[in-house]
Amino acid sequence: MTDSPWQAALTQLDDAALALELDQGVLEVLRHPKRVLEVAVPTRMDDGSVRVFTGFRVHHNTTRGPSKGGIRFHPDVDMDEVKALAMWMTWKCAIAGIPYGGAKGGVAVDPKRLSQGELARMTRRYASEILPLIGPERDIPAPDVGTDEQIMAWIMDTFSMNMGYSVPGVVTGKPLSVGGSLGRAEATSRGVMYVTSATLKHRGLSVEDTRVAVQGYGKVGAPAVRLLSDLGCKVVGVSDVHGGAFNGGGLSHAELEEYHRGSGTVSGFPGGEALTNEELLSLDCDVLIPAALEGVLNESNADEVKARIIVEAANGPTTPGADKVFNDRGVFVVPDILANSGGVTVSYFEWVQDIQAFFWTEDEVNARLRSIMERAYVDVLALAQERGVPMRVAATMLGVARVAEAHATRGLFP
Ligand code: NAD
Repeated sequence: MTDSPWQAALTQLDDAALALELDQGVLEVLRHPKRVLEVAVPTRMDDGSVRVFTGFRVHHNTTRGPSKGGIRFHPDVDMDEVKALAMWMTWKCAIAGIPYGGAKGGVAVDPKRLSQGELARMTRRYASEILPLIGPERDIPAPDVGTDEQIMAWIMDTFSMNMGYSVPGVVTGKPLSVGGSLGRAEATSRGVMYVTSATLKHRGLSVEDTRVAVQGYGKVGAPAVRLLSDLGCKVVGVSDVHGGAFNGGGLSHAELEEYHRGSGTVSGFPGGEALTNEELLSLDCDVLIPAALEGVLNESNADEVKARIIVEAANGPTTPGADKVFNDRGVFVVPDILANSGGVTVSYFEWVQDIQAFFWTEDEVNARLRSIMERAYVDVLALAQERGVPMRVAATMLGVARVAEAHATRGLFP
């Protein structure tokens, strides 16, 4: 049986705690989210009826600063998943060295089945229900699966209307017109490109000979395809929820973007052969980049994966069972909490710019992102080599140790 995301997150924490010989009391604290909230989100539908959706917001840990984490709109969202995603955010922020704790939120809904009006009303009601938990000094949401910058703008507006003045720093991933940051939209993908490039260098591989497959063609996957192609890699496979496309000579990212703009999917792309999602994961390639959902690489398919390097753009794509298979087979996994931290890093820059009301150029944003990502990569790799552990264990150790140090410094209240 595949672990649930929360079980997977706890297993990863326990492994890191064991390697760190972490104090049992601190481990107990970290195994529990600080606070969880479940809310009803009644929404007036266009036909006049009322539907009640279920929403969540979880603060896993706030020891190093206000909590930070995305909001997901997807039918499978539940408390178990949101708790796991919040815990991963805690480690991610600590590894990147940015002054945040971890949070996550979501609503169990398929946003594609709502009209714009329904989506706006549902989002605003959800934002109102979680209002006591969020704020620029408390907890700062951002986009995740199924949410975008328009949804962030509605949340910012709902919060601001309640306060009576504009509070751009309450969410990140906003449109530029209401305090968004240049470079935020593709920051997660840019970070994925930086760590992929660092990994190829570390493994002594040339960028030009590298064949990449990307699962998921959303806010993270689509720019990743373009940025990796620009870097010089050959993106040979890509897929989304509807299916995928393969071209051994490399897919044209520009044609793919154009096809996706018209059809809303990469399935049926004429510049490649059709491919299922399962086939994409086991494609003959060098680097596999899961950029969709959790648990897609598990014990049932880990043996089929041919890539020697996995860069986790998605959160939690590899279950602990699959991790074990990859470690045994010598597959190099760059874990989510390192690989996709470009998003939260530029979210941090956006929050800093909002608070200072002073905005940076895109070059400044990208240069600062690059230096944070490269430093985090070097820190994790050095620990992995020193302790002889996989990158995931090293990354979790680094994140947990930094949070534990902050706990020890602050002391247990009261
Ligand atoms: P998105 O909603 O923009 O895109 C998700 C993509 O995954 C879509 O192309 C969808 O078709 C595809 N997908 C969904 N189910 C699938 C399935 N069963 N098989 C194959 N493809 C499937 O979401 P996103 O923001 O790009 O997030 C993707 C992942 O990256 C998530 O794990 C998210 O938590 C993580 N992440 C996102 C950000 C960010 O800034 N958006 C930051 C860090 C991590």
